[in-house]
Amino acid sequence: MTRTEKAKIIGKTLDSLYPETPIPLEHSSAYTLIVAVMLSAQTTDKKVNEVTPALFKIANTPEKMVNLEISVIQNLIRQIGLAPTKAKNLHKMAGQLIDGGGMRADWDYLESLAGVGHKTASVVMSQWYGLPAFPVDTHIHRLAARWGLSNGKNVDTTEKDLKKVWSKDVWNRRHLQIIYFGREYCPARNHDLRKCSICSWAASKKRITQEMKNKN
Ligand code: SF4
Repeated sequence: MTRTEKAKIIGKTLDSLYPETPIPLEHSSAYTLIVAVMLSAQTTDKKVNEVTPALFKIANTPEKMVNLEISVIQNLIRQIGLAPTKAKNLHKMAGQLIDGGGMRADWDYLESLAGVGHKTASVVMSQWYGLPAFPVDTHIHRLAARWGLSNGKNVDTTEKDLKKVWSKDVWNRRHLQIIYFGREYCPARNHDLRKCSICSWAASKKRITQEMKNKN
């Protein structure tokens, strides 16, 4: 079976499991979304949604954020990982946005902001601006390899491969559907790929054997 054929069946499974694709991170503007996505690095969306209400109550615009001391920002987000670095980046990003005229759908501009990489920019481009993008984090990277949709050694290659097997008009929802699927079905370890609704037929025999060996 070719990658495209596999992707078609996986796409149908994902569409039937997740016909709706609500955005997991709470936000009310492009700015609050980019802040939430930036905060979500190496922590869960749930945790981010717990801290952002207090943060956005005080600073839901770059102008308000830049007026806060970094220590105040850090205190507001202290429950999430990498808070000191994220607080510094939030402060710097707010200044950059004020100088740059605010949020806009511009890849180079967004990726030039402190703490914003290609994945974060991709989430904002797709979820706020509605432009086709395929944010690939480590979870999507791992699943794409297991499903045989990519043998990419890094997230950049996986992104290119996923963009080839699915058409532009579904990229935004596929990204979210794969995240939902991973959260619901894919435990971090000790599970049997032969019992999975996707890996059981999509993963290569070699990979299944390898994972079974690792399990034992
Ligand atoms: S076997 Fe199923 S549950 Fe495990 S990684 Fe593959 S898709 Fe996820």
